[in-house]
Amino acid sequence: MVEPIVVVKLGGAEGVDFSAICLDAVELLKDGYRLVFLHGGSAEANALGEALGSPPKFITSPSGYTSRYTDRRTLEIFMMAVNGKVNSMLVEQLQRLGVSAFGLSGIDGGLLQATRKDAIQSVENGKRKVIRDDYTGKIEQVNTVLIELLLNAGYLPVVAPLAVSEQGEALNVDADRAAAMIAAALKAETLILLTAAPGLLKHFPNETSLIQTLPQNRLSVALEAAQGRMKKKVLGAEEALKGGVQRVIIADGRIPSPIFSALSGKGTIIHSS
Ligand code: ADP
Repeated sequence: MVEPIVVVKLGGAEGVDFSAICLDAVELLKDGYRLVFLHGGSAEANALGEALGSPPKFITSPSGYTSRYTDRRTLEIFMMAVNGKVNSMLVEQLQRLGVSAFGLSGIDGGLLQATRKDAIQSVENGKRKVIRDDYTGKIEQVNTVLIELLLNAGYLPVVAPLAVSEQGEALNVDADRAAAMIAAALKAETLILLTAAPGLLKHFPNETSLIQTLPQNRLSVALEAAQGRMKKKVLGAEEALKGGVQRVIIADGRIPSPIFSALSGKGTIIHSS
């Protein structure tokens, strides 16, 4: 029997318990699961930027959506914080528990290939501007050979959300979407998005309004309920299911045994219809 692959995205919001997640990894690997971890790190990148005198900058699109402006310096700070610190510390934590974790970013071996968003519209003081030095990307392809090589050799790949453009430039990519693309490329059984909420709430922030299950064909309900960055998780869920993942679980990363809880049905399960 081929062991199931579970891709886990570790949210960066306050309260998400990396050590509880790592403890679950030990048990799941013993049970024969193959795991891939993907993490974010915007908060670390923002803090490092502040410390280095380059606080984060945000742009507002003509439709009113705010996103991070990643010029080259911001990208370098993002690499230092997310790949340098968050990734290494997660790998360290896993190694301490005896797990053969292998830290890499989407740049390594061309793991994540993306197209650069080369002209972004922004609105500043009521005036439209075109930004051409933004280093964010949309993932187009995943080098599955590399990740399967690691899995087959018994490693737990821990991936930082960077990608490489056709021109070989490093790009900042959304971690939820990256996790979804990896899960789809590997035809993972399950994608778990661990975050600082019990799952997807119908009436955010009312934690008693948890949506427990949702078929893929009713994702519009989820998109309506999701506010701000939660929308990216819903879009990621859709991408993963379209790509052949059986179920996506948006679950609480703040509780003990967060991965086991998600796998046992806690959180919001979105499944192919
Ligand atoms: P992460 O670091 O886990 O990716 P984000 O802060 O980017 O987290 O997005 C998750 C957050 O989105 C939750 O912690 C919650 O505050 C917020 N959120 C917005 N809408 C919803 C919703 N409908 N249900 C649950 N959480 C939501």
